[in-house]
Amino acid sequence: MVKNKYLELNQRNSEINKFKVHYDYSCVICNAKTPSQFIGGVSEHEYSQTTSLIFPVYRCCTCQLTYLYPRPDVSELKTIYPPDYYSYNLSMNKPETESNKRSFVKTIWFWMNLRTYRTKLSPFIKQPAERTLKILDIGCGTGAQLDNMKKLFPYSETHGVDINKLALEKAEKGGHKLYYGRFEDVNLPCGYFDVVHSTHVIEHVERPDIFVQKCLDLLSPNGILLIETPNTNSLDYKIFKKGHWGGYHAPRHWYLFNIETFRNLAKRFNAQIIYYAPYNTAVFWNWSCHSICKALFGKKIADRLFPPITIFYGGLHSFIILSFFSILERIILGLFNKANSMRIILKKI
Ligand SMILES: [Zn+2]
Repeated sequence: MVKNKYLELNQRNSEINKFKVHYDYSCVICNAKTPSQFIGGVSEHEYSQTTSLIFPVYRCCTCQLTYLYPRPDVSELKTIYPPDYYSYNLSMNKPETESNKRSFVKTIWFWMNLRTYRTKLSPFIKQPAERTLKILDIGCGTGAQLDNMKKLFPYSETHGVDINKLALEKAEKGGHKLYYGRFEDVNLPCGYFDVVHSTHVIEHVERPDIFVQKCLDLLSPNGILLIETPNTNSLDYKIFKKGHWGGYHAPRHWYLFNIETFRNLAKRFNAQIIYYAPYNTAVFWNWSCHSICKALFGKKIADRLFPPITIFYGGLHSFIILSFFSILERIILGLFNKANSMRIILKKI
């Protein structure tokens, strides 16, 4: 009995009686019977007050979807996303002061992002001659990506959805049209958007298949869907997959993909993949090292060496860690064409 794997991993943990979990009875991408191949057990290592439960990770043998089985129930979202959750504060950086509006790390990150979009993605995004370009960013946070898009395509109408009210208040400054709530619940016009954009969101959602279907429904006839998400076809996944891989971001990443999984999804929804590129997310290496360090030496030392949350707030320590892992990932990408995140563009057929 497979359910016993979760019970087996948590048999001495009394939290198991009150924490609600959900079992997918078939693979959400290809419908194969779950669970498939057992990979390992993952648990929270970044935050202190979420849950100490261990979640088994499985991989679908048919479409290669990697998933938690069981995953936390939606009713536990408040438990696993604490008020100081990093992405609620990420684009805001640490509390702003006059002298610290934008850190050096953040400036570099913005510059690299803009450069990537200009060189790699502009060829797929065509400005319509007779009207504005309509862009939607799902999980827009404080509007950083929308600001970038607006810089690249000044004649555009930018829309953003997010579940964080405070972040949306900050995004208002950019002049974007904003919607508060879960993307799945927000009412948006079908066939309207030329670009639907989603960075590191799909791995968090309850039903990634329904998520993709809704994204495709929102596209105009020549519109594109751009998704960025962790990539299990990477060297660090292979090394740390039994439990310490930073891309698990446990227990908040419920479904993890590679290009094969997306090919299955595209086929199911009559869409095609027109662009695929692996790219690096240095912070996953930092989280992998943090998880190992915590297991070996305890949380205090791990937090000092590889800060899991404040890594985003800038400073010399963050700069050294992120630069080191970025260079490492660049070398791996150059040698093997593999990286721990991927960027995919889908189009309706
Ligand atoms: Zn599957």
